[in-house]
Amino acid sequence: MNPLAVSLERRIAAEGPITIATYMAEALMHPVHGYYAKADPFGADGDFTTAPEISQMFGELIGLWCVEMWHQLGAPAEIQLVELGPGRGTLMVDALRAASIVPAFIDAVSLHLVEASPALRSVQENSLRAFSVTWHDTMATVPDGPMLLVANEFFDALPIHQFTYTEKGWCERLVTSIDGDFSLIVAPRSAPLASLIPKPLSAIATIGAITEICPAALSLIERISAKLVEFGGAALVIDYGDEQVQARPTLQSLRAHEYHDFLQTPGAADITAHVDFAGLKRAVVPKAECWGPIAQRDFLLRLGLMERAERLRVKATEMQRADIDGACHRLIAPEEMGTLFKALAITADRANPPPAF
Ligand code: SAH
Repeated sequence: MNPLAVSLERRIAAEGPITIATYMAEALMHPVHGYYAKADPFGADGDFTTAPEISQMFGELIGLWCVEMWHQLGAPAEIQLVELGPGRGTLMVDALRAASIVPAFIDAVSLHLVEASPALRSVQENSLRAFSVTWHDTMATVPDGPMLLVANEFFDALPIHQFTYTEKGWCERLVTSIDGDFSLIVAPRSAPLASLIPKPLSAIATIGAITEICPAALSLIERISAKLVEFGGAALVIDYGDEQVQARPTLQSLRAHEYHDFLQTPGAADITAHVDFAGLKRAVVPKAECWGPIAQRDFLLRLGLMERAERLRVKATEMQRADIDGACHRLIAPEEMGTLFKALAITADRANPPPAF
């Protein structure tokens, strides 16, 4: 057993079964043995590849989105550019390079990265060494003020709770451990957290149905949207998930690009769940406005992905052209990331439709 499995087993022996959210938070974010404590889970040699790692065009288009949003906000002299979970920092590097065509924007920006992993912070420090960056453990310490916030594949890593529908209503699925093997059991009673499950879902649920909630995502969206209403700005959340009410488990684990049992070797593999976009929209404070979600395909095409690709192709070698075409395909094809991934924007008012929405 790995050290994290030993520590989780001890905890379960002492306190009883733990929630999937607790297990997921430890597996991903344990400061020493957590998955993200390891420096580089991304790319071909890693466990998964994200859109900014597929192509520079992704971050560049988001950079231009930010510049356009800043203009719409009246080009404030100071604005925070906040990224949640920047990974290797690739998106931000590409975004800032593209945005540098508007020097006044770069001058206005102060950069805030919310990153819990010390190992990834040092990767980000290296990629963004040309910029002055402030790191935060959570959104709570990002100072007051107008902001543009970007989060790509961040919300899918936030800890979720799973519930099974039983004769007693929704009962939480818990992780227990028997002789070093982790398995799931169903709590004997319903818990207050189950009240976050949407009523329409309970109305159609049959015995044995499984659903998920992510309270961490809901409170974060509430905080972000409240900040936007108070100080102005916009947020852009890109992730994989659905807008319909779900009654199925989506928690999954990937290791070396293959599916992996999330209860095996905690900390050694990524664990994510589909993002519940309907839930995120409900969590927005009343005065804020939500836009979308729209498919990643539509988002990128409307921002000019093909035009950007064409400009890169002009100077490219034959091999680079094939790479550019391959990247476009992966980002927008329906059987790749095109429709499963979605973009949701939040603004402070209805007057400023964000680009592409
Ligand atoms: N946005 C990047 C990385 C996605 S992976 C990309 O698209 O390539 C998820 C990122 O979120 C990692 O940087 C991880 O360390 C960070 N992260 C995950 N959960 C977090 C949490 N609860 N608090 C802060 N950072 C977190």
